Formats: sequence, structure tokens, C-alpha cells
Amino acid sequence: YDDRDGMIWMDGKLVPWRDANVHILSHALHYASSVFEGERAYNGTIFKSRAHSERLLNSGVALDMPIPYTVDEIEAAKIEVLQANGLTDAYVRAVAWRGAGEDMGVSSMKNPVRMAVAAWGWGAYYGDAKMKGAKLDIAKWKRPSPETIPTHAKAAGLYMICTMSKHAAEAKGFSDAMFFDYRGYVAEATGANIFFVKDGEVHTPDPDCILNGITRQTVIGLLREKGITVHERHIEPGELEGFQQCWLTGTAAEVTPVGVIGDYSFEVGALTRDIAETYEKLVRA
Ligand code: PMP
Repeated sequence: YDDRDGMIWMDGKLVPWRDANVHILSHALHYASSVFEGERAYNGTIFKSRAHSERLLNSGVALDMPIPYTVDEIEAAKIEVLQANGLTDAYVRAVAWRGAGEDMGVSSMKNPVRMAVAAWGWGAYYGDAKMKGAKLDIAKWKRPSPETIPTHAKAAGLYMICTMSKHAAEAKGFSDAMFFDYRGYVAEATGANIFFVKDGEVHTPDPDCILNGITRQTVIGLLREKGITVHERHIEPGELEGFQQCWLTGTAAEVTPVGVIGDYSFEVGALTRDIAETYEKLVRA
């Protein structure tokens, strides 16, 4: 994705897409000192833009990597990137990382914290699955404990098992994988949160070792406004069999119905379709 026209915001200014490069001895490349955001602009406005900028700053703090920009400066950078590339409906990727320093080692105290924002046009994350229901494999890796890694941060290091699990899933013909966590409870997909429906009520994992997605929080609010009971709780693997509907939420995934998880299947039911439509209306409002 490096050889194309366009402008990327890097360390405070716009640079041509092809020149937005980093040095091979960047700390981030060796030690995963990198945090990022995935955001979507609809009709020229980034949905929950400030919440994403705030999460980026918090992720930086979690990695002892304070990002040298304020929320307002990040907001301005994102607008600048959308305008420079003539985009109104786009995916926005902000990333901050430790660059190359005076020497190379685990400590990154002397390495600058750098930041970039790129944006590009992007359609549905799960393609056809968006309507028919995504098929999820069960990942062999487990989401780690918050005592192992800062699980509330959107940090590159947490995505190593996501990439491996997604590769394994795709090789078997699935569109994504669902993780259990270190205790064995249902956790999330590789880039999205998960919801289930049983007898008209909604169940979703407690965000105690998974990303508390901005879309997740939005969808819980929408469901409660509709008077639907939402249980945020630990979900046992044995419960999968009893759920009737399932969907994923995420900035990229939006609300994507799930048809299959391993050996279990779910219908793309009325509540799934309704919440997907309500979310779609909200982001474009
Ligand atoms: N979990 C993971 C692992 C993710 O990568 C994402 C996407 N950022 C989500 C959940 C959903 O988060 P959000 O709704 O904030 O995009």
C-alpha cells in the first residue's frame, strides 16, 4: 500500500504518500512500541472522532509512550488528511510509534515518539458477509490477561495473535476468527467485538481483557434506548449453542451479522438487521 498518490500527515506536516517512510532501526519495528486507531469518516465527518483521539493518547500512556500532540491537534491532523486527499467517506488510520534513537535496545526512552495519519476509501470489512453472516473460526490463541499486557490499549503487540488467527481462519475458508480469553470465556474477534441474542435479550462479553470498542459502546447505548436488555458478562463456551443470533461490532466491521462460529450457526435475525440499520443511520446522521 506504499506506491500510490495521496498525502499522509507525518510528525506535524503533510508528505507525499510514497515518502511516508520510517527507518529500519525504528524501535516499533523491533519491539512493538506502536499504538493506533481505526476510524471511519461518513459524509466528511469522522464518527466519534474525539473518542478515537483520546483512546490513541491513552494507548500511548499505557505503553509509557506519551504522544506529543493534544486531542485538538490530532483532530486537526485528521481533517487536514481528509481534505488533502479529497475524501468524505474513508477509513482513517492514526498511528504513533517509537522511532529510531541513539542506540538500539529494549529501552526506548531516547527514541522519539512519532505519529502519522493516513486515510483512504474503504468498503465493507467483511464484504459479502455483511448481509449473509460472517463465518468465524475459533482461534487457537487466547486473549491474554490484563496482567500480561495492557489489554485496554489498541497496541500493535496485541495484534500478533490476531494476524496469526486470521491467517489460520482464512486458510480454512472462514472470514475471521473468534477468541476465547485466558480464562476460557468468549472474548472477541480479531478486529471486532461480539454480541449474542437469546430470547430477545443481548449478551456481550465484559470488556475486562478485550478492547472496549467505541462501536461496542455505541451499540449497547442504541440497544438500551430501544428498551432491549443488554447483559455485559462472562460468557462460557457452552452457551454458544443456545444463542440464536450473533453479530460483530467495530469501526471497520460496523455491525456485521455472524452466521457461523466453528460448529455453531446463527440466524441473521430481525434484531441483528435492526441494530445494523440503526447504527448505519446514526453514523451518517
Ligand atoms: N476488538 C479489537 C481487537 C479491535 O481491533 C477492534 C477494532 N478497533 C475492536 C474490538 C472494535 O473497536 P472499535 O469499535 O473501537 O473500532
